[in-house]
Amino acid sequence: MSNPSDVLIIGGGAIGIAAAYYLQESGRQVTVLEQNEIASGSSFANAGLIVPSHAIPLASPGVIADGLRWMFDKQSPFYIKPRLDLDLISWIWKFYRNCRPAQMLAGFQTLKKIGFESLAMMQHLVESESLNCDFQQQGWLMAYRSPHAFAHGVDETQFMQSHGVEAQILNQQDTLSFEPFLREDIHGSIFFPKEAHLNPSQFVTTLADRIQTRGGSIHTHTQALELIDQNGRIERIITDQGEFTAEDVLITNGAWAHQFLKKLGLPIALQPAKGYSISFPNLPLMPQRPLYLSEDKVAVTPFTNHLRLAGTLELSGMDLRIDPQRIAGIKKAGTRFMQLSGAEETTEPWAGLRPCTPDGLPIIAPISQVQNLFLSTGHAMMGITLAPFTGNLLAQLLNRQAPSMNLAPFALDRF
Ligand SMILES: Cc1cc2nc3c(=O)[nH]c(=O)nc-3n(C[C@H](O)[C@H](O)[C@H](O)COP(=O)(O)OP(=O)(O)OC[C@H]3O[C@@H](n4cnc5c(N)ncnc54)[C@H](O)[C@@H]3O)c2cc1C
Repeated sequence: MSNPSDVLIIGGGAIGIAAAYYLQESGRQVTVLEQNEIASGSSFANAGLIVPSHAIPLASPGVIADGLRWMFDKQSPFYIKPRLDLDLISWIWKFYRNCRPAQMLAGFQTLKKIGFESLAMMQHLVESESLNCDFQQQGWLMAYRSPHAFAHGVDETQFMQSHGVEAQILNQQDTLSFEPFLREDIHGSIFFPKEAHLNPSQFVTTLADRIQTRGGSIHTHTQALELIDQNGRIERIITDQGEFTAEDVLITNGAWAHQFLKKLGLPIALQPAKGYSISFPNLPLMPQRPLYLSEDKVAVTPFTNHLRLAGTLELSGMDLRIDPQRIAGIKKAGTRFMQLSGAEETTEPWAGLRPCTPDGLPIIAPISQVQNLFLSTGHAMMGITLAPFTGNLLAQLLNRQAPSMNLAPFALDRF
């Protein structure tokens, strides 16, 4: 016996649930399959920042030199596990080719445009659906300890300002009166007033609740195993809980998409990039807004009852093991920048896998070999930021409407 559905979505993270929401709004009947719980992948305990200004892709000039420098420091924010993996080697080569200025500029312009559109859509979504997810728009402060890093940050900011991004550059004194939670030996900071933040797991789970209340069907602990195609269409979806059929199938399984599609004979340029977070509950003092500890690449987000620190980018494959050295590196960054000494984090450290493409842009595309199969992954460090934009664009795509934006930057075959 198979379960018939209209649109079947594989993966219940920020992207799958946002797509389910906009598809349902457009009149489609949605079914979501999630192998674990909703928002249990990368969308769970990430930093929850909605940061459209933070649009310089990871692949940018200078990043390779920084990466090589960090490779040998066990507490550094970046690591590649050395291994003979042809997919990884090919990905790094493509990444390297995207570090050129022209590619970086094109990526920046696209990410900035869709990031700001997504922020406006997020504000509307949270308000119109009364989503209880700690959404606040208080900006984002990037803090610097060294004059050298600050000068680099100012250069980068002037580049962003020349492309219309709003930012204020603050000296040491102004930084400390603006954010007294920072340590007194801070050198300076840059404030991006438009940025927002929310609790990512609450955002995804409350949105999933709304979808279910309106008749959407969500199957947790249901892993999609195989897609059976006939005459260029997916006819059946085999899961560990039985068979499903659907008019359209959308794959939004984040970092898992690489292995899943490889099994189906559809290789994609995607690597999982592991990041960690730790949380400090019930601190007597908290920063008034999200921060970025620039030299250590750690994001800091104040939620109602805890402070979250998130960072590290590790290319170690599909491996969610927690490396205590990296956690120590994140904590050390916290105490180097903020008045955190004596704070004990009591929640378990968390690890998530960011789905990363070599050019830093997501994939939002039909799979051309199969009429009714679509894919969206690769949102890297911006999956929460971009969820509403991507969800809405996917609804247009699956409804065979003219998309509101040229899809070429998000095509599957662009690498
Ligand atoms: C430390 C860290 C900090 C971050 N901070 C931010 C931030 O501040 N702002 C921001 O915008 N982004 C941030 N990100 C990135 C963001 O978390 C991701 O881009 C986003 O969560 C990706 O969403 P997704 O839905 O594509 O993937 P996921 O959330 O990983 O969802 C994929 C889901 O698919 C399910 N799945 C996999 N295979 C199958 C299968 N075969 N069948 C059924 N289900 C399956 C998985 O269980 C998972 O739940 C951060 C990431 C990390 C790791």
